[in-house]
Amino acid sequence: MNYTSTRNSSLRAEASFAIAHGISEEGGLFVPTSIPKTDAAFIEGLVNAPYVERANRILSLYLTDYTHEELAADTAGAYTERFGDPAVAPVKRLDDTAHILELWHGPTCAFKDMALQLLPYLLTGAASRVSGGKETVILVATSGDTGKAALEGFRDVPGTKILVFFPSDGVSPMQKLQMTTQAGENVGVCAIRGNFDDAQTGVKRIFTSPEVIETLARHNMTFSSANSINWGRLAPQIVYYFSAYADLIKNGAIRNGEKINVTVPTGNFGNILAAYYAREMGLPVNRLICASNENDVLTEFLTTGRYNRRRPFHTTVSPSMDILISSNLERLLWHLTGGDDETVRRLFGDLAEKGEYTVDGGLLEKLRTLFAAGCTDDAGTAKTIAAVFNEHGYLCDTHTAVAVNVYNAYREKTGDRTPTVIASTASPYKFSKAVLGAITGGAAGSDSEFDMVEELERLTGVPAPEQLKTLRGKAPRFTDVCTGDEMTDRVYRLLGIAD
Ligand SMILES: *Cc1c(COP(=O)(O)O)cnc(C)c1O
Repeated sequence: MNYTSTRNSSLRAEASFAIAHGISEEGGLFVPTSIPKTDAAFIEGLVNAPYVERANRILSLYLTDYTHEELAADTAGAYTERFGDPAVAPVKRLDDTAHILELWHGPTCAFKDMALQLLPYLLTGAASRVSGGKETVILVATSGDTGKAALEGFRDVPGTKILVFFPSDGVSPMQKLQMTTQAGENVGVCAIRGNFDDAQTGVKRIFTSPEVIETLARHNMTFSSANSINWGRLAPQIVYYFSAYADLIKNGAIRNGEKINVTVPTGNFGNILAAYYAREMGLPVNRLICASNENDVLTEFLTTGRYNRRRPFHTTVSPSMDILISSNLERLLWHLTGGDDETVRRLFGDLAEKGEYTVDGGLLEKLRTLFAAGCTDDAGTAKTIAAVFNEHGYLCDTHTAVAVNVYNAYREKTGDRTPTVIASTASPYKFSKAVLGAITGGAAGSDSEFDMVEELERLTGVPAPEQLKTLRGKAPRFTDVCTGDEMTDRVYRLLGIAD
């Protein structure tokens, strides 16, 4: 299995190279040159296999330069009892057509764990083949979920150090506490005065600074990235769509071979793209339903072909989907154009220069056949949380509620009764304030994050995850706040080196 770049289709690389480097040097994303195929017998073989074994079988089709022993050790190390459910990613029936795929039983209670618990293993294996035994330094700018999931994934992993920068006022109280109390000998966390873009810009600058790279090299260290465009984050996400399908067969909801739909609450387009790969591999998927909040750039794109990021940015109750540039879309367009790197360069050049691009003709037809798309606002999200709880006794978070809302509208409009897997991406207790407000139909009784957690538990009877409850009263370990200009200094300090 070879990989190439969306902006240079003549490049050839192995999986280790793609994972160790994260992004191709001309700015493109690594993509497999061909998508491996599976059949009904392969899927049948997954039905009685545990999650770790399902992961081995699917990942070995993509990560062909990793040995079977290596992959088996990696997946066994990642998907342990640290996931609060033995199924790792269990499927729950909502009604006669809708099934919820819970992706948030990992240590940080968001779906990012599904990939970030495995990535450190994949990355250290890749680095030993590609980077000649240098220590790997992971730098992350986060708007919330990714930072904590990366910290948990990389903590105390030999041969790695991880540093996370977050905007001091741009994350939820729970997210902030999750990061500032992080344990581990190889971790560092620092708040930035500014917003997410300031943190992101600072990290990119450090990543590409020749002086910083040179200083790290003198200390036998090299940068790598854990962000969502790394192939090592995408590949693990393909697994759970197969896993969900196998579970639906197992519990009698479908027969092997029967088509399903998949609905995904979407931000950077990584999670839904993984579902596309599963479909191309032969998983019987009919439509991919892309759900957005008020930041509806993808809804417009998938229905009209026009991608226009010059639009108001909305801060919503589903912050992990507050994104106007969905990076992973580039991979989809590369595949749908049959690997046409020239078209990809033109479209993403337009996006950088003019803030928009348009696709039409056959490409737009393909998009419309594969995808349905819809969006809802915060009021719709709250209504859905209340309705799902009142009608089904199921408590969902704000991101999942966006997906359920868009799915219900799709089913209503099309009459499509195909069994559907809805990706649930976070524990409701990560967003207690908004979820509690939706359930009570008004303001919460208290402003304290943990009082709200308790109130929500009391009202719904749904237990909050232990790993969130035990944060109460914990003293932060990392209290440093710096400006964008001071970030390089903080990197050196956290790494224990002077320039
Ligand atoms: C990251 C995230 C998303 C968006 O996923 P993408 O892969 O970026 O589309 C949705 N929900 C939650 C809770 C997230 O953390």
